[in-house]
Amino acid sequence: DHSAFSRARNERFREGDVVRRVFEHIVEACIVAGLVGGEGFAVDASLIQADANKQRSIAGQDWRRDRDPARSSRAVKEYLATLDDTAWGAASDVVPKFISLSDPAAQWTGAHKGPAFFAYSDNYLIDVKFGVIVDVEASRSIRQAEVGAARTMIERTEERFGLKPERLAGDTAYGAAPMLNWLVEEKGIAPHIPVFDKSKRDDGTFSRSDFRYDPTRDVYHCPSGKRLGTSGTVHEGKTLLYRASKLDCDACPLKPQCCPKEPSRKIPRDIHEHARDVARSFAGTEGFETSRRQRKKIEMRFAHLKRILRLGRLRLRGPRGAQDEFVLAAIAQNLRRLASFVA
Ligand code: SF4
Repeated sequence: DHSAFSRARNERFREGDVVRRVFEHIVEACIVAGLVGGEGFAVDASLIQADANKQRSIAGQDWRRDRDPARSSRAVKEYLATLDDTAWGAASDVVPKFISLSDPAAQWTGAHKGPAFFAYSDNYLIDVKFGVIVDVEASRSIRQAEVGAARTMIERTEERFGLKPERLAGDTAYGAAPMLNWLVEEKGIAPHIPVFDKSKRDDGTFSRSDFRYDPTRDVYHCPSGKRLGTSGTVHEGKTLLYRASKLDCDACPLKPQCCPKEPSRKIPRDIHEHARDVARSFAGTEGFETSRRQRKKIEMRFAHLKRILRLGRLRLRGPRGAQDEFVLAAIAQNLRRLASFVA
């Protein structure tokens, strides 16, 4: 009977985390076979359609988070249990446009530019030597949750296998300052990641990159050689402002190209800008270009997952269901890789 499978999955195997234990056993076999280099990792996420339909959904603001778990389905209970989890409920305060009644943890997303749909994100951390998946994690399909999943996978891979890469390749989604700071300062991993930077101006006035930062004095020097200092006040918990003197700007011939509408120029600097500078210093180097090419291996893993393994849409609901399917698929992909190399 089909219920034998679902009961075995939900009642016998899930609490023991048997699927993850099998996954880790296969990764260990790949390490022993020499398929994992451990020097370069790549991270990315792919949207997988959830088993949820727009017809069975309600507007986000009509959803009640305080509903009684005892009278809810398993997928709803799982959702309620993950509300404080950074990969799920706590990843963002933004109320989604629609929430599925049958699978409320699935995210309503239009990220594929086509019609929006309910989805989960499948996050992979791969070793770039042969494209072995060293960790996998399900998360909500929003950037903050995917970045949180990347951190979880990096920590867990170090803890389980003693593997910490020298460099991590990723796209701009992983290039926000807190993530870069965590990689550089806390983990000692070189971020081969394009920096998420909105400071470039396109109205003809000077951008921040036209100002030179002096780390020894903690000041910026403007194009006319004047100093911009900071009071040290942190704005919105993340930004320092460096201000030019009004006297300097009033007398400056470059003012029309610098701050035509303001009395003097201000330069915002993220408190983690040092980590962004480290990431910028890799851009364009040979190592960075190699990482950019190697990042394609993770896209190929996702293409294989959808086209060959046909995991375009989930069969199970809830965060645990998505996690189980993603881990099982990663087991299959690693086994195929292992088999082809052993053969
Ligand atoms: S306007 Fe002020 S900040 Fe801008 S270049 Fe002139 S002195 Fe420097």
